[in-house]
Amino acid sequence: MFSRILVAIDGSESAKKAFERSIYLAQKCNSKLDVVHVVSCELGGDSAIIFDLMDELKSKAEKMLEECKIEASKNNVPIEVMIKQGDPAQIIIELSKNNSYDLIIMGTRGRNALQELLLGSVSLKVMHHAICPVMVVR
Ligand code: ATP
Ligand code: MG
Repeated sequence: MFSRILVAIDGSESAKKAFERSIYLAQKCNSKLDVVHVVSCELGGDSAIIFDLMDELKSKAEKMLEECKIEASKNNVPIEVMIKQGDPAQIIIELSKNNSYDLIIMGTRGRNALQELLLGSVSLKVMHHAICPVMVVR
């Protein structure tokens, strides 16, 4: 039913739940999982401090994705992980347009869960523009 699933994670509790759910679903449906983390480049600029910060964000992301790989292999789920840089919603939407995913799984909220909104802006934008079904995990 869902042979290729894209999961988007930002290190938040909500995304962690989304990843756990994707493992469960992938086991049931024999799916292949692609996990993406986007290092958001809101900061911009070309100072050395920004470059150092980006490096640090990328190495944190690598660790997070390594943990996903471990969890997936424990559950015999085939997995690929990706780190991208840019606007998270735009990158997730592009990925959905360039690949034949059957489903995108994300959290309702992310790391900025300060406002009392039901959905964060990334999950909202992806739901509007993705060309495949989107599951948001609460
Ligand atoms: P906002 O960012 O709009 O202030 P928020 O952080 O609470 O609010 P979102 O960013 O929309 O909410 O997060 C919802 C879900 O989107 C996350 O649980 C995660 O699945 C996905 N997501 C958000 N940011 C990223 C990212 N940088 N890389 C990959 N997935 C992301
Ligand atoms: Mg966010």
